[in-house]
Amino acid sequence: MKSPLQYVRPNILALAPYSTARDEYKGGDITTWLDANESPYDNGVNRYPDPHQKALKALLSEIKGMPVSQIFVGNGSDEAIDLVFRIFCTPGQDNAVAIAPSYGMYAVSAATNDIALKEVCLNADFSLPVEALLKACDAHTKVMWVCSPNNPTGNAFDVAVLEDLADRFDGILVVDEAYADFSERGSLLSVLDRHPNLIVLQTLSKAWGMAGLRLGLAFAHTDIATLFARVKYPYNVNGPTQLTVMQHLRAGIREQVEEIKRERERLAHVLPTLKVVEAVYPTDANFFLIRTADADAVYDHLIARGIIARNRTRMPLCQGCLRITIGTPQENDLLLKALADFPQP
Ligand code: PMP
Repeated sequence: MKSPLQYVRPNILALAPYSTARDEYKGGDITTWLDANESPYDNGVNRYPDPHQKALKALLSEIKGMPVSQIFVGNGSDEAIDLVFRIFCTPGQDNAVAIAPSYGMYAVSAATNDIALKEVCLNADFSLPVEALLKACDAHTKVMWVCSPNNPTGNAFDVAVLEDLADRFDGILVVDEAYADFSERGSLLSVLDRHPNLIVLQTLSKAWGMAGLRLGLAFAHTDIATLFARVKYPYNVNGPTQLTVMQHLRAGIREQVEEIKRERERLAHVLPTLKVVEAVYPTDANFFLIRTADADAVYDHLIARGIIARNRTRMPLCQGCLRITIGTPQENDLLLKALADFPQP
């Protein structure tokens, strides 16, 4: 098996990370903390947080069934996306490949890091164009981005197809599973150990209901997870977030996710019966992509009813499409009523 370290930028491999005051503390009966130039006055946040997020990672390890050494936690998955570019892609030289349409931050983060991103359109039925993705790669392609379930199309790809892609791609395959908690199609976490060149991203912003706290996860081969920890800002997850996330993790989300899935089922039946809706695409996520004759007009109509959806009509393969998040049963009723009232010619 190839080591994933072969894809890492040489300067990152050589990096000596910043050592925080709390890294140098090796335990012992300390009562007087004079090592980090903090304020001594206890207000609940006067001390630096744990830079290694040990307690939080231990809990995540239990919930996700993954060893702590393979977990990175960051300021949303957006931080992990940026770190992937910084760890593997030399600016102005390397490039990455991504599916399209997909989550917009892959392109923004690529541009910020001066990395060319080659976007490969999904097949017309939104299935994964494996051969075209591989064909788009060249000797400087270090990273490939696949989002599953995909935003905005909603569909998840087969684990076996993604595994095949990981095996055949000579680089780092990142599979963004932000919406995997809503999917019945399985996560790549269960096969991560078979693919050292695979990184799986997840987030607590969706099913876990913690978008406001900003907590994203990356799971990877231990050598890669170690690099994430070296390159990140030392205190990338603040103290109150670490604590609050643990409280919410312990509370669980099973009932909420079940309700969203029930609502997904209901909407999947009702949406196609509405005149304004030309197509409802199958979804494994907590949103629907629907096609209408005029997405801009439907978007404005919903806004006038106090409902905001995401107008995706200008994305590849998405002409006429709106992406609509599944809300509470009451919110979904309002949505259905508003769509049913859309004036027909
Ligand atoms: N990945 C995908 C596919 C997303 O749709 C989003 C948010 N819209 C993210 C990642 C970002 O998640 P986070 O809030 O963890 O930064």
